[in-house]
Amino acid sequence: MELKRTVKFEADRDPEFARWISHTVGGERIRHCLQCGLCSGKCPLSLYMDYTPRRLMHLSREGFKEEVLGSSSIWLCTACYACMVNCPKSINVTHLLYALKQRAIEERRYPRRFAIPVMARQFSDMVRGSGRITESWLILRVFLRTSIWRLLGMSGLGLKLLRTGRMPIKRERIQRRAEMEKLLDSVAATRKELAI
Ligand code: SF4
Ligand code: SF4
Repeated sequence: MELKRTVKFEADRDPEFARWISHTVGGERIRHCLQCGLCSGKCPLSLYMDYTPRRLMHLSREGFKEEVLGSSSIWLCTACYACMVNCPKSINVTHLLYALKQRAIEERRYPRRFAIPVMARQFSDMVRGSGRITESWLILRVFLRTSIWRLLGMSGLGLKLLRTGRMPIKRERIQRRAEMEKLLDSVAATRKELAI
């Protein structure tokens, strides 16, 4: 992946975004970032990123929302924590990348039919709707929204799994689903209140 090297202007900054990142969980110390680059050096995926973790920290705290939420790096992060454990300033880089991913999902800032955010959204919809995940239905819903051709290509394997009972069709549900919904609503309300 080619690193992006564009000139940034003050007018492109979004001060609300800069405020949000430093108030989000894990962002309390982002202003202490030295820009030493250890996080990028330790990241096994930085070679494939358009913005390395070091650059993402800098762009985020300065409020360059468009660049950060449009970056492929937030989707490549595997949460291995190598950046975080090596940071001399104990900055929660991994948690911040999670927060950025979550914000990109909330604002639907991702390429159409991009599997990772679609999976995250379908996962949370299933938990809200039935209290449980049924993997076969989750896979089906993700492929229908991202790549129907891949789904068709995997139909042979799917049938084998169905025949051998490795892929249940019956949807799992918990009892008292209303309580689960209430719980999720209260988590969402708390997040909103705390702006995290
Ligand atoms: S290792 Fe820590 S201090 Fe160094 S650039 Fe990365 S986040 Fe900043
Ligand atoms: S947690 Fe993500 S950003 Fe940090 S080193 Fe691992 S892959 Fe790279």
